[in-house]
Amino acid sequence: MVRRVARGEGAAKWLPPNPPAQSKHMFELQEQAENLNAAFGTSDAAERLAGLVRNVGRRLVFTTSFGLEDQVVTHLIATQDLPIEIVTLDTGRLFGEVHALWAETEVRYGITITPFYPRHDAVEAFVRGHGINGFYNSIEARKACCNVRKVEPLGRALAGAAAWITGLRADQSAARGGVALAEVDSERGLIKLNPLLDWSRDQALAFAREHDVPLNPLHEKGFLSIGCQPCTRAIQPGEPERAGRWWWEEEAAKECGLHVGPDGRLVRSKPAAEVLA
Ligand code: SF4
Repeated sequence: MVRRVARGEGAAKWLPPNPPAQSKHMFELQEQAENLNAAFGTSDAAERLAGLVRNVGRRLVFTTSFGLEDQVVTHLIATQDLPIEIVTLDTGRLFGEVHALWAETEVRYGITITPFYPRHDAVEAFVRGHGINGFYNSIEARKACCNVRKVEPLGRALAGAAAWITGLRADQSAARGGVALAEVDSERGLIKLNPLLDWSRDQALAFAREHDVPLNPLHEKGFLSIGCQPCTRAIQPGEPERAGRWWWEEEAAKECGLHVGPDGRLVRSKPAAEVLA
């Protein structure tokens, strides 16, 4: 026994009778992601963002760490005056150059970027237990630090959001190779939109130069991917783009937890048909 559910475009989907509310929500999110991919998969990045606003509405959040791609996305949001909240996670261990670029970006676009900070008691407990640079001691300690300084504040930043916009590109690393334009973040129960997923780094750089987008001067010094100061180094010519992040760890482990689930893998969408299976 199945129930037929009418959709806006006249198409139909099948749902089992009386699905649990959580599964129904995930199914609807997955359908929304598939519709966004179909509608905007070949659009330019500006239209992808505008399309998200038209189709999803409600609270939309873009998280920036002020890297090259994030600056491009900020430019696209600000110059189209899109109702997307721009937030950042200030871990307390960022480069001074990041704070300078943050201030410069607010002035350049006339915007306010909302900061989210770690809980002071959690930072104090981490430092008391592991030492001020305890993240070098083990992968577990490093992930614990990222959890306190990034993942927990991200949860607050995204609370109540319908969609999360990121600056991920598919060719940044092997782990990010399979990202789609629109995905379902099943951990957080929202749509995740990656409007630059099919851009190359050169394309992003060319766009930034053409539109006078403010960039971090550290990019010119070999810091292609910039995170916290103690966990980021410049890379050598020919090294992978994210080789300078947690350079003492194996490549496969190099995500800070913002884009991964409890199993350490990038959070991926399931096809809508599988959500209720
Ligand atoms: Fe801590 Fe380094 Fe993660 Fe920053 S990148 S939160 S300093 S472990």
